[in-house]
Amino acid sequence: MLQPDADILILGAGPAGMLCALTAARRAKENKVKREILLVDQDRVAARKLRASGGGRSNCTNMNAAPAHYLSKNPRFTAQALSRFTPLQFLTLLTSLGLSAREEDQGKMFCDQGADALALALEKACRKAGCRFLVGRAVTAVTPPDAKGGLFSVETEHGPLYAKRVVLALGSPAWPALGGTDTAARLAGMLGLPHIPSRPALTPLLLSGSDANLCRDLAGLSLTASVSLDAKSACGGYSCTDGLLFTHQGLSGPAALRLSSHWRRGETITINLAPDADVPALLRQPGRGKALARTMLAELMPRRLAEARLNALAASALPTAFPKGLADRRMAELSRADLDALTQFVCAWRVTPKATAGMARAEAASGGLDTDAFSAKSMQCKTIPGLFAVGEALDVAGDLGGFNLHWAWASGFAAGQSL
Ligand SMILES: Cc1cc2nc3c(=O)[nH]c(=O)nc-3n(C[C@H](O)[C@H](O)[C@H](O)COP(=O)(O)OP(=O)(O)OC[C@H]3O[C@@H](n4cnc5c(N)ncnc54)[C@H](O)[C@@H]3O)c2cc1C
Repeated sequence: MLQPDADILILGAGPAGMLCALTAARRAKENKVKREILLVDQDRVAARKLRASGGGRSNCTNMNAAPAHYLSKNPRFTAQALSRFTPLQFLTLLTSLGLSAREEDQGKMFCDQGADALALALEKACRKAGCRFLVGRAVTAVTPPDAKGGLFSVETEHGPLYAKRVVLALGSPAWPALGGTDTAARLAGMLGLPHIPSRPALTPLLLSGSDANLCRDLAGLSLTASVSLDAKSACGGYSCTDGLLFTHQGLSGPAALRLSSHWRRGETITINLAPDADVPALLRQPGRGKALARTMLAELMPRRLAEARLNALAASALPTAFPKGLADRRMAELSRADLDALTQFVCAWRVTPKATAGMARAEAASGGLDTDAFSAKSMQCKTIPGLFAVGEALDVAGDLGGFNLHWAWASGFAAGQSL
């Protein structure tokens, strides 16, 4: 008869796996039940993505966490877990770990002590609650118990492990240099579970040709912009207003990262470079009749950007809707059509990325284990009792701003309560 290595094997010691372990261990203690919990990770260091999160500051939750901030085939799947583990509950947990967080814009909460401190505190709390860690052990296969009951068998590089319950907390293929793998997808294939193909999310946009040259010249420049995809795009339309950063390869910053989760190859993005301004009214201001059009444009966006785009248009051999010589005419001389062309220049810059920076630079991945196969309350698999999945391994991808980590906490908590 096989002996279990633990009651619960948690595959992946990232934020979702650790919160699941901590919740299950504390619950078992409250109920005076003995539960052996073992976290298994390929990496020698637990939670590498959490340690890198928010540029080392960890945007650890968002006060506005709600299903609308998540992409999933089943948009309601997150609702129960999010309502049972709210951002305030996470902040209470942080306090109990001796940490704190501060709100920045749009509900984003950053850990005052930083991402490393958060990962270390969680690991310490798990160990204190009696959980064990087995690191440097990559998981390669999972076999459910046979019909007569028995144990799950988990294959690792260094031999099998056995347990009554198994949690898939293996994350997504995003950012492989920080431990992203496609193990969850491979296990889904072995277990006969449906899986939605993974796509990079929250990743920079790469441009080509003259747009790429322009971005290279402006690398480092950032501004607030609205970026949008029209209703004919695969996602049915998307728009957000946030920071946009020019890079050596294209566009990054929160606005570009957020849009990348919705963009499909071939789609054109419309960028409004002065989203808070009433541009047509400003262009018709009385008393500015003697101003050159290029002066007006440089007042509506960073001067370097206006000049670089005007130079690119002047150098382009392709037909454009921006009349030649318009930039050097005085405002009083302009027709309605000329004013419309200036408005379009500011509010509707159209660029077609050649690609995204892909999984290598994706902060998350959409797709994952199909949520149809899992309970939204407990995260337990509907067809394989005793098997659970949490965090980014599931087909749930959050928007930028702390939503992905909040999903890791909320789904980890939901499973931990049911184990
Ligand atoms: C650079 C970067 C910055 C980010 N910043 C933020 C932020 O500020 N706020 C935010 O909300 N989100 C942020 N994210 C996203 C967030 O980190 C993830 O959504 C979150 O870590 C997912 O948690 P998880 O536990 O599901 O998966 P992961 O954190 O990916 O953990 C999965 C674990 O499984 C292990 N694993 C994988 N394959 C195997 C295998 N075969 N065998 C054994 N172990 C395996 C991995 O080593 C890893 O430890 C960021 C992501 C990146 C890449």
